[in-house]
Parts: sequence; structure tokens; C-alpha cells
Amino acid sequence: MPQLMVQNGKFIDYEDALVHVMSPAMKYGFSVFEGVRAYWNDRDNQLYVFRMRDHTDRLFQSMKLLRFQPTFDKDEIDRLTLELLRQNEIKSSGAVRVCAYVDGRGEQESRSPIGYVISATAKGRDTAIVEKGIRAQVSSWIRIADNSMPPRIKTAANYVNTSLARVQATHDGYGDAILLNQAGKVSEASGSTLFMVRRGKVVTPDLTSAVLESITRDTILQLAVQAGFEIEEREVEKTELYAAEEIFFCGSAAEVKPVIDVDGMIIGTGEPGPITRHLQNDYFAAVSGARADNKGWLTPVLTS
Ligand code: PMP
Repeated sequence: MPQLMVQNGKFIDYEDALVHVMSPAMKYGFSVFEGVRAYWNDRDNQLYVFRMRDHTDRLFQSMKLLRFQPTFDKDEIDRLTLELLRQNEIKSSGAVRVCAYVDGRGEQESRSPIGYVISATAKGRDTAIVEKGIRAQVSSWIRIADNSMPPRIKTAANYVNTSLARVQATHDGYGDAILLNQAGKVSEASGSTLFMVRRGKVVTPDLTSAVLESITRDTILQLAVQAGFEIEEREVEKTELYAAEEIFFCGSAAEVKPVIDVDGMIIGTGEPGPITRHLQNDYFAAVSGARADNKGWLTPVLTS
């Protein structure tokens, strides 16, 4: 299988996608990125990219907030993403990563030139985790804040914060971390959004709780409404997690991951709950095209 990448509009070998060690991207972490998923559909003999333009929109929002001035546009990113999936002959579920970064040799004020790379590889589902769920730890590391290091910007540098929490959690024997924000309220997990079910309602921290504006979060909220569940976007307190009937994490990479234990407190029955299962099934059906795509979320990759 050919392993190509795109760098600045050109198809190149994976090994040749390079950035200089003296670039601001490398020296200061000046890069933004997106993790996008593509799903194979046997019935249609087709690969679909899930909510591609929404990811590209968020990439451009991240660039705007960091004052990057790209010389490429959204259509170029989308067109080359589809072309790369075809060139790499991805015929199973796949993962796409788009990254835009400050190239050149500049210092902290440098914002040009803006380079970009796109990768596309096959990636399957972590069925054990999706089936059984994970145990999570409320971290002693606090989530970064909008007035210092905005979580809304999907910049690589932000992952120093979540990585501290995640490494601590895995070291302590947990599957992932849950971070509280500066106000002591629940924000999100290390690379995914948190949802809980409380008194039958599907609840998630609001978009001012120091979270990424997650595309999967939005998808789950829409699917929950369609399925007839009541939803709430609001501040969530730590003890509500322990008291919740169900908890799950979601994200493009994480998909829908049940959480069965927080800090050693059993959540619900200690098994993935019925609403988690319901939304998980709806999510898998939506991303793969098994249910009708009436929201225009799917972009077909293969041309006949
Ligand atoms: N929060 C964080 C910190 C993340 O890294 C991710 C993964 N991009 C998410 C939430 C989920 O975002 P999305 O649903 O857009 O993938």
C-alpha cells in the first residue's frame, strides 16, 4: 500500500514530510491540528469522511485565534484529504490528521510562512474499550483556561496540559483522566468530551467550561435529541460524576467510550449503561452511513 502524505499541496512519501528543528512550530509549539475519521460502508462499497468541513472550519478557527495567515483555503484541504485517502487506498476505517504550523526560522512573533501536512492511515475500532468501558481518574492537574491557554484552540501545545493528567492517570492504573477547570467544575478528558446521565438526562459541560468545541460532542447532542432524550449543557460538579447513572467520553478518535468507574467509585451498575449504549449505536450508525445521512455529515471518498 503506498504511504503518501500531503505537504503544502504536494504528495510526498511519508518519510519526506519534514519540518526544520529551528521552525517556530518546533521551538514554540506553534501548530494547530485536526483528527478526522473516515468509515468504510460495505453496502455502498464506499468510504465516508465524517464531518470533514466542520473539522476544516475548526482548523481555520484555531489558525485565526493564533493569528496564522494561511495562503491555502478550506477547499484545498478538503480536496487533498479526499485525494490522499484515495491515493493511500484506504478501504477500511481510517484516520486523517491535518496539521498547520509556523514554518521558517522566526521567533515568538513569527506567523509565517504557514505550512501544512495531511496524513491518512487505516485505523480500526478499539472494540474492547468500546464494549467494556474504562476506569477514569479525576486529575490533580487543572485544565488550562480561556484567558491563558484557550482550550478552544486545538493547538499541539495544549496537549502538554492533558498529557500531564493522562500520564498520571495511566501511571496510577486508570484508563484516562478527567480534568477540572479553574473554577473547580468538570471540563473534559485528556482527548475527549465528557457526558454523564443524571436523572435520565444527557448532560455535558457547556462550551465555557474550558473544553474544546468538540465535533463529536455536537453530534452526540444532536443524536440524543433525535432519540428523544432530554439534554443539558451546563456546569458539572465533581460529585455529580460519582452520583451519575452513566458516564461516557466521546471524540473523533475515542468514538463513544463508556466510563464505568471514577476514582474507584462505581458508576451506575459498573457496566456501560443503556443510554450510553443507545447513543453509541446511533453514533456508529451515523458515522458509517448505516443510518440516513439527513444532516449532510458524510463525504464520499471514492469516485466511480
Ligand atoms: N477534547 C479534547 C481535549 C480533544 O483533544 C478532543 C479530540 N479532538 C476532543 C475533546 C474531541 O473533539 P472532537 O469530537 O472534535 O474530535
